[in-house]
Amino acid sequence: MTSTPTIPLGGPTLPQERRVVTAIPGPRSEELLARKAAAVPAGVGHTAPIHAVAAGGGVVVDADGNSLIDLGSGIAVTSVGNAHPAVVAAVQAQVAQFTHTCFMVSPYESYVAVAEALNRLAPGDHEKKTALFNSGAEAVENAVKIARKATGRSAVVAFDHGYHGRTNLTMALTAKSMPYKSGFGPFAPEVYRAPMSYPFRDGLSGADAAARSISLIEKQIGADNLAAVIIEPIQGEGGFIVPADGFLPALADWCREHGVVFIADEVQTGFARTGAMFASEHFGIVPDLITTAKGIAAGLPLAAVTGRAEIMDASHPGGLGGTYGGNPVACAAALAAIDAFENDGLIERARQLGEHLTTRLEALRAADPRVGEVRGLGAMIAAEFVDPETGAPDAALTAAVAKACIAQGVIVLTCGTYGNVIRFLPPLAISDELLDDGLDVVAAALAAA
Ligand SMILES: *Cc1c(COP(=O)(O)O)cnc(C)c1O
Repeated sequence: MTSTPTIPLGGPTLPQERRVVTAIPGPRSEELLARKAAAVPAGVGHTAPIHAVAAGGGVVVDADGNSLIDLGSGIAVTSVGNAHPAVVAAVQAQVAQFTHTCFMVSPYESYVAVAEALNRLAPGDHEKKTALFNSGAEAVENAVKIARKATGRSAVVAFDHGYHGRTNLTMALTAKSMPYKSGFGPFAPEVYRAPMSYPFRDGLSGADAAARSISLIEKQIGADNLAAVIIEPIQGEGGFIVPADGFLPALADWCREHGVVFIADEVQTGFARTGAMFASEHFGIVPDLITTAKGIAAGLPLAAVTGRAEIMDASHPGGLGGTYGGNPVACAAALAAIDAFENDGLIERARQLGEHLTTRLEALRAADPRVGEVRGLGAMIAAEFVDPETGAPDAALTAAVAKACIAQGVIVLTCGTYGNVIRFLPPLAISDELLDDGLDVVAAALAAA
């Protein structure tokens, strides 16, 4: 193809199909990738070697007119579907009304309405409050600030394989050196790491894994010094690690007994993704604080800390905030997205997608011993690839499968401490037909690898 394709409109007008009309990347994307390489630092990488011009529902259209199936949702963000019509309408109406006042200067209702919705939806029937920020990392930073202020203690425990962001404090909380931390230190002090429950690799029961972590915390840090424990109920970047039953409740109970703030980082697992509004619900835990971002506002930058009113209120006036936190356009998008989660059956849809993904991937695993484990909850499912002889992680195979999928018009993301996991995070708006086409491509790519 030599002519520049007409740019399609996004949203529901885009045909929900995989359509590969050039090599991927095509010539126009190649040109743009060359401009990217010249203008943007190498540290800002990309998964798919394309440039997007439109997206809608479960597809992304590139500059050459290829329509790619989106099994990553821009990292669990466009859960309601890309350019969801109600989100687009809400954003357009808000942007015409006003774009910014700074909530700390002149407050507005939509911020308060998002806070009310989060207070209502987050687990537990205790009194809650919510503060809004721009990114997941910023929410995590603030959750730690709030926990320290409320407890008067400074230490924070995070876990092996955990991911909490790329700012200085959140790099310290994140486990994996390459690519997130290497060379970027020194890191924030008073951050300690405990072992995670990783049933596929440690074989421990939830109770035994929790006892191991709690013993380390008591011996090496001491409950009296500990402000907070922060954990992803299902680890995202770390490899979609689902802890063994009982691990999270045992940790949460220990925190309650010792006055330690239990923070669930639900930036990736939150907002219907796992087939519940919050993944904490699957494990029967009620976190003191919950951080959210990603899926909350359908692609606009918004993040939140929601938690027990007495902990949230411990900070002095002016201690929390930021110029853009809870921007009115992002809040309008979030209110429309929350409405879609609650009223378009998306929680149930996440469950169905999870069953569908699990059935298809388990069939692959039964036929191919290189698929070591299929795990996850709802529309957050992953396959871990291993050497069938030794069980050792196979990052090369994983990268080859992911690359082949993208070349065939299916965007998939990898993850995992060992880089040997392909994660599936489809928009909850995706059709069964589109998902099946995407999974056929994954199966063919694995067979060919
Ligand atoms: C993505 C992510 C973050 C960081 O969010 P950003 O918006 O990229 O700053 C934090 N925690 C978890 C669990 C995440 O998945």
